[in-house]
Amino acid sequence: MYDIIIVGGSAAGLTSALYTSRQGMNTLVITKDIGGQMLLTNEIQNYPGFHSISGFELATKLKEQAESYGANFVYDEVTGLEEDKDCPGMCFKVKTLQDTFNALSVILAFGKTPMDLGVPGEQELKGRGVSYCAVCDGPLFRGKVVSVIGSGEQALDAVNYLSSVAKSVYFIHNYDRPIGSEEMVQQILSLPNVQRVPNSRVKELIGDTKLRKIVTQNTKDHSLTEIESDAIFIEIGYIAKTDFLRGLVELNDKGEVKVDKECKTSHHGIFAAGDVTDIAFKQAVISAAEGAVAALSAYNYVQRIKGKTAIRNDWRSIQPKKKSDNLLKI
Ligand SMILES: Cc1cc2nc3c(=O)[nH]c(=O)nc-3n(C[C@H](O)[C@H](O)[C@H](O)COP(=O)(O)OP(=O)(O)OC[C@H]3O[C@@H](n4cnc5c(N)ncnc54)[C@H](O)[C@@H]3O)c2cc1C
Repeated sequence: MYDIIIVGGSAAGLTSALYTSRQGMNTLVITKDIGGQMLLTNEIQNYPGFHSISGFELATKLKEQAESYGANFVYDEVTGLEEDKDCPGMCFKVKTLQDTFNALSVILAFGKTPMDLGVPGEQELKGRGVSYCAVCDGPLFRGKVVSVIGSGEQALDAVNYLSSVAKSVYFIHNYDRPIGSEEMVQQILSLPNVQRVPNSRVKELIGDTKLRKIVTQNTKDHSLTEIESDAIFIEIGYIAKTDFLRGLVELNDKGEVKVDKECKTSHHGIFAAGDVTDIAFKQAVISAAEGAVAALSAYNYVQRIKGKTAIRNDWRSIQPKKKSDNLLKI
């Protein structure tokens, strides 16, 4: 039985793990990877304390820090969460693809996941030319022909990056023009190796051991076109994959977990932090801060369950200075 299980190993989850394990809580982080969305960017320029740091490096530092205080890690996907019937109202069962784990409290910190296109061939060709991360997988297609589907800034960023790596880039987008700042759109559309496929959506992905062709349909005249491409980068946004939480904690209409100011969900003992929650701004530093709040709340909750003293704000209050230390010496 763990004191606290944290689902997710990125800014929110790793910060939670740092706080709970440092406080002596028996902590397990269950995560698919270390770094989550932060792995998708080569450069974070707005995380306090670092002028510039790659998402990978920041995640690695956060993990090492949490681990140094005793956090445990399991690499797996969480598929279910329920109250444990053996100790109702007191503890939880966390189910993964491989196993089941028990904890007194759970912190949900599993962020957002890239959206699928939902077209034939996509699932079968994932990892064989179908990618959701230009920065991560782009270098695998150096000198090849690649495509990007998406209409917003995320897609523009991907096209921009891939144009510097691939031989050429097909840019498939819904409308006449992609959506983004005029300056950015102009700059990307003028790249010599970028060919636009406007007013189009992807109908099917065709391949065998690897992606071979993309079938697109024009949204105006409904004509079909086949594009030969070594890879397709699906850059259509992110969603909170919270279906397994329905009926257990309250979600908003985007499927995000509703939390209060203490990162408590609608279910006692379950806390949430970061991009998976209904916070307004999705940023690494905000996820990390929420991770700390969720950890403090979960710590207090577990302490109360154990009949021990809970703390509220500052870890330092655990070891208060002796009053005499604060006296001015005259
Ligand atoms: C391209 C890009 C660039 C960005 N640039 C910046 C930037 O410059 N500055 C900035 O502040 N923010 C930036 N962001 C946003 C920032 O990356 C996110 O706000 C932050 O990573 C959110 O952290 P998180 O811990 O809430 O979730 P995520 O980073 O989404 O991580 C979720 C974690 O949960 C795991 N997970 C997911 N589902 C499960 C499951 N079912 N079971 C187990 N584990 C699971 C994942 O593997 C991952 O480890 C960027 C995002 C992107 C996509």
